[in-house]
Amino acid sequence: MLPKYSFIVPIYNEAENILEMYRRISQVMNQMDGKVELCFVNDGSRDLSLKIISELHQKDSRVVYLSLARNFGHQIAVTAGLNFVRGEVTVILDADLQDPPELITEMVELWKQGYHIVYAQRIKRSQESWLKRLTAYAFYRILQRLADVTIPTDAGDFCLLDRQVVNVLNKIPERNRYIRGLRSWVGFNQTAIRFERDPRFAGDPKYTFGKSFALAINGIVSFSKVPLRISTYLGLLAAFVSLLMCLLVLYWRIFIPNSPLTGVTIILMAVFFLGAVQLISIGILGEYIGRIYEEVKQRPLYVLSEVAGFEEESELDNY
Ligand code: UDP
Ligand code: MG
Repeated sequence: MLPKYSFIVPIYNEAENILEMYRRISQVMNQMDGKVELCFVNDGSRDLSLKIISELHQKDSRVVYLSLARNFGHQIAVTAGLNFVRGEVTVILDADLQDPPELITEMVELWKQGYHIVYAQRIKRSQESWLKRLTAYAFYRILQRLADVTIPTDAGDFCLLDRQVVNVLNKIPERNRYIRGLRSWVGFNQTAIRFERDPRFAGDPKYTFGKSFALAINGIVSFSKVPLRISTYLGLLAAFVSLLMCLLVLYWRIFIPNSPLTGVTIILMAVFFLGAVQLISIGILGEYIGRIYEEVKQRPLYVLSEVAGFEEESELDNY
């Protein structure tokens, strides 16, 4: 019998969290009205995570797992999980207990009322640094302005997805996967539940500033073409400013003969300004071209080194 509920938990060096996570999520699993599978996706951890997961799998047949051949990143790890799980309903949640497993029951209730997607929206982030809170706040609002689809603010990857949605997501071949965006793009009946994000149970965040920044850029570039237009606007602005400067120089030449602002200073300013405009524009173009390059290479999204607990062997042939 196939499971009715699948829970996907991506793992990157979470050895200190897995057992506590398992303890809390098992209580939820025991309350479910159908068969459950708990799918850990080991994203190339270098600590004891994989060993702990495989021991759990030996003890509890509901625990299944995938192991990626190296660290492919959170979004890809979740994608791998989505490719393999078999439930009618799938819930994605973090291993560090920042996404309380107890909320799953509430999400499932909403699914039973007919919602295809239930995403969790953070109303408070306790104990995260002010820098992270500020950048996250700004990012979600900028993204909402720029994106072609309405991507809800402050909603992370913690969500419930109906089988129909999982099937659509699995058919999307994009390599640069911003799951929160794709989830909004899919459509269907979506709703939010609001929650307070708990602090990490143990260990350090695995999303470094660099990784979060890359994810943010990915979100914007994957769902908006507005940045491409920024170069046009900057070009227009530069043209306007240079016209203004011409007039100013003319004025100075005629009325203030010894002004220090004419000559080399103003030329240097203009050169630097134009240089900056051009470099920014090339950078923006580069973001898009780089993604086109990634897409045409058609490499597989991930490489698996181990799969355990999924009976359908046929799926393994694909990777
Ligand atoms: N994670 C992953 N691969 C990575 C980085 C993170 O699978 O390259 C997992 C991590 O183990 C955790 C989840 O993604 O289960 C969220 O990571 P983290 O808690 O660091 O992110 P934050 O809560 O700060 O957004
Ligand atoms: Mg976390």
